[in-house]
Amino acid sequence: MAGELTHPTIKDGWFSEISEMWPGQAMTLRVKEILHHEKSKFQDVLVFESTDYGTVLVLDNVIQCTERDEFSYQEMITHLGMMSHPNPKRVLVVGGGDGGVLREVVKHESVEKAILVDIDEAVPRVSKKFLPNMAIGFEHPNVEVIIGDGFEYLKNHKNEFDVIITDSSDPEGPAEALFQKPYFDLLFEALTPAGVVTTQGSENQWLHMPLITRLKHEMLQTFPIAEYAYTTIPTYPSGQIGFMVACKDGRVNLREPLRTWTREEEERLCRYYNQDVHRAAFVLPNFARKVLECP
Ligand code: SAM
Repeated sequence: MAGELTHPTIKDGWFSEISEMWPGQAMTLRVKEILHHEKSKFQDVLVFESTDYGTVLVLDNVIQCTERDEFSYQEMITHLGMMSHPNPKRVLVVGGGDGGVLREVVKHESVEKAILVDIDEAVPRVSKKFLPNMAIGFEHPNVEVIIGDGFEYLKNHKNEFDVIITDSSDPEGPAEALFQKPYFDLLFEALTPAGVVTTQGSENQWLHMPLITRLKHEMLQTFPIAEYAYTTIPTYPSGQIGFMVACKDGRVNLREPLRTWTREEEERLCRYYNQDVHRAAFVLPNFARKVLECP
């Protein structure tokens, strides 16, 4: 309800992101004003204005995006996959209800159709109202929005998409099924022959190596090639979030962009992604590489 003055996650003017997914640590942000709170059919939806990170979207007490640093996540989850396809025309976004990934997808002129499937109508609705710089993605003429479960949607779509980006919330709640092998099988079947997927690879190397290892292992049971990449972002746990990037064609080197923008285009279109960052995103420190790249 708009105008509400309190929320269980906010005490003494500070929001704290406390969860067993990152035990013993919590991101805190100073709150200027609560802008919106509701319990949707699927999740607790909170929007507040912070003093230093702009407007913040929180679902089930977990930060989804802040205006100040969202570009790092949205650009990387999108362009790592899009630049690994020679000519992406049809793109599917599963989740992504804030519109930020769509905003990035339509920067690629080859895209004829971008479909977004989010389970919760509340997320696009509040994003259009409070996060216009992300929700601008909904306004492009080639975009279609479907409210529904991404898992169910994929069951009826085969050999249809060049790139699929799973921009889901964390694997607790409505997104749980999007981190498991049956979902990866559906992704594989929904892709065209050179198709590429990028998924929210679940948090980061400091906290979640067992989960990342399981995801990579399960994706490799379905896809001939799957790689872990990551980006830096202050408001996600430990300042980092990872992605799994996978391709139906095992000959593709995902670490090397198949297509590139010129430096001038990169600087006009993006604040984070460039071709060097693309390559660097797959380079892991020893403690993570040892676990993830062992045969
Ligand atoms: N970048 C964010 C992060 O990593 O925290 C995710 C942002 S986006 C807002 C996540 C979206 O996934 C939410 O809008 C949520 O409604 C949607 N979602 C969760 N489970 C889903 C499912 N099974 N099918 C489609 N969308 C789903």
